[in-house]
Amino acid sequence: MNEFDILKKYFGYDSFREGQHTLISSILKGQDVLGIMPTGAGKSICYQVPALLLSGITVVISPLISLMKDQVQSLNQAGIHAAYINSSLTDGQISKALQLAAAGRYKIIYVAPERLETYEFQLFAERAEISMVTVDEAHCISQWGQDFRPSYLKIVQFIRGMRTRPIVSAFTATATEAVKEDIACVLGLQEPQILTTGFDRENLYFGVETPRKKDAYILGYIKEHSMESGVIYCATRKNVDMIYEKLLLEGTPVTRYHAGLGNEERKQNQDDFIYDRKPVMVATNAFGMGIDKSNVRYVINCNMPQSLENYYQEAGRAGRDGEPAECILLYSPQDVVIARFLMDSREAKPDYDEGEQELLRERDEKRLQTMISYCMTKNCLREYILRYFGEFTAPECGNCSNCLQEFEQIDITEDAKKIISCIRELHQRYGINVIAGTLSGANTAKLREYGVTTAASYASMAEKSEAGVKQIINQMMMDGIISHTEDKYALLRLTAKAGSILDGEEAVFMKLPKDNGLSERYAGEGKASVQRKARRSDILNSKGLELFDRLREVRLIYAKEQGTPPYIIFSDKTLVDMCVKLPFDREEMLTVSGVGENKFEKYGSRFLEEILRSTGGVKEKYYFGDQEETAGGMQNPDAGESAKQRRQSSGKKQEFSLTLEQAQQFPYAQRYLLTEIAVHLSELRDENTMKKIAGTQIQRWLEEIGFQEEKRIDGKWQKIILEKGMEAGLVMGTRTSKLGNEYEDIFYDSKAQKMILDHFIR
Ligand code: ADP
Ligand code: ZN
Repeated sequence: MNEFDILKKYFGYDSFREGQHTLISSILKGQDVLGIMPTGAGKSICYQVPALLLSGITVVISPLISLMKDQVQSLNQAGIHAAYINSSLTDGQISKALQLAAAGRYKIIYVAPERLETYEFQLFAERAEISMVTVDEAHCISQWGQDFRPSYLKIVQFIRGMRTRPIVSAFTATATEAVKEDIACVLGLQEPQILTTGFDRENLYFGVETPRKKDAYILGYIKEHSMESGVIYCATRKNVDMIYEKLLLEGTPVTRYHAGLGNEERKQNQDDFIYDRKPVMVATNAFGMGIDKSNVRYVINCNMPQSLENYYQEAGRAGRDGEPAECILLYSPQDVVIARFLMDSREAKPDYDEGEQELLRERDEKRLQTMISYCMTKNCLREYILRYFGEFTAPECGNCSNCLQEFEQIDITEDAKKIISCIRELHQRYGINVIAGTLSGANTAKLREYGVTTAASYASMAEKSEAGVKQIINQMMMDGIISHTEDKYALLRLTAKAGSILDGEEAVFMKLPKDNGLSERYAGEGKASVQRKARRSDILNSKGLELFDRLREVRLIYAKEQGTPPYIIFSDKTLVDMCVKLPFDREEMLTVSGVGENKFEKYGSRFLEEILRSTGGVKEKYYFGDQEETAGGMQNPDAGESAKQRRQSSGKKQEFSLTLEQAQQFPYAQRYLLTEIAVHLSELRDENTMKKIAGTQIQRWLEEIGFQEEKRIDGKWQKIILEKGMEAGLVMGTRTSKLGNEYEDIFYDSKAQKMILDHFIR
């Protein structure tokens, strides 16, 4: 058997996802790997598949007990022998498990890092053949990250102490450069294959809403999505309890999680959520690490998180199964106050000196400002997130609240001038609150104390609310007209651009929702509801939906019998695929995505029975429009699929390629970065039928054909042009990062652009 057979037989999938195969082949060649992939991209497969092909055992180090349990359950369901060893077992159970492991009973064992240095485990490691050590959540080893765990350093000692060095594979979803370098360095990876896949989560809809009453918004949302599982994050315990109680009163099957609850209750509530007994979870950010629930259909953040890193991690818990899901952030200016308060009340790190503490504070402040701008921007939210994480993509995604909202440009030059004058008059000594208060003419003790009520610009924008003025100031910050100091006071400063606006050389524009006037949005009116990406199950017609519900019931029966969460039996995606393909026998059932041989033996029969019973053995169309041809000689659905329906089956899009005609429209330039080439290439394709291409994919190909490579020089990862690349027109150039640091990157001249294009022409 090779890796493809394993994928099909045990996991029921036909093909690898982006990056998976590269990493797996490297491991099978005996090379160390570091896989950086966003949540839900499928990291587990990358070590589970090779684990089955390597001769010895794979030891997976994972920080969280809940995660281990989930993984082991899934593996056992798939017919793979695996076990976990952690503090939730008794000493007797641990001995037994290690004994079985040493005897070769398990291909994969999961352990917590603390376990590695115990005498018992050491003894086991000496006796057993360990082919690979896999480090999950590998960023925990980096002191740069937010989740540093000292126990992770024990992994290094453990590997060093082994008689034969195993293959080391490490995985994380954290992408920052510093963390990436740290992992490779601290873990002592040997010439690792490092692979970063795109951070875009195409199936997630991103939205920012500013409802007047957040609790009413949430109640309404949940009423509309009552059949679905979701998480509501709140900044404080008090908020969690408040929302939880309101939902409870409405009869919602809801549970909650925060540090104020006892251990027992937390565990119980978490299980209620995972097992879909209570599919709605209200929680603080203490909840979620290690939660693998794949069918979370929405994540609502009731308060703005403190950083975009935090937000993307929390929001990313939606839609891990790859099906459409929604991530909605409810913003109000009060959130900034809460976030600052939480930041200030965080314990100082004792082993940092004053200077380092100050640096950390600055870093936190910067992160907060990025988060605030996310809530304020009128441009594509996905593009904003990805750009922050260092990826460049098309300027509009078509699946976020800003892309789906029609905006109009409004000239705000006059207001901008008033704001600039005010900041200047007050000698750039105040933050946004005082400036906005002054301009809108607020009459507070604080403003009187500062003496700004007698300023010439006092009340010069009295027709606007304070929030309205702040919105314009924020827009001006994004346009680079105003900056602010990096300390906690965030004093507003004027840039050179401000001068040319006062001089009337430049105008300032602001995008506003068309159907929603300026003041309304400021006052926090919710935006008009928008047309979002459809759910996977939306491709089913009424008969299909009926069958889907029945299959869900079958799944629930199995789940109860087995004491496992339903999604471990089969994901929603798999059930929908059953409704589309209508398998009548084993052969046909095995063509369904997510049905492997082992799961078929275990559960196939009752699902087959239900399908036969519901359809009466007649293959009709249980879905709208056209699906791709299905395997097993089934009838081919008719043509005539609409663009929208095609978008819904986005999982089935073709890999990127170009026709000759499309290629001719490429906007050649003197030089481009790879990411820019990728964006232009992607724009040429038919987005309904074809996946877009990422810069990292092109990079990997250029590395494969020996044009360039990425190497560690003086502790930093550096791209290098090889001889072949120089001939082809690759040149080094200097770029400036968001933080103002200069660094080297590769540029591609028009000859190189042509060569890249040719590669994609079919
Ligand atoms: P991660 O650990 O990266 O967050 P997981 O390993 O939990 O992601 O995988 C997320 C989901 O994607 C799982 O339901 C998994 O079964 C599914 N998956 C992984 N690889 C594939 C594949 N090649 N084809 C289809 N589904 C896949
Ligand atoms: Zn967008």
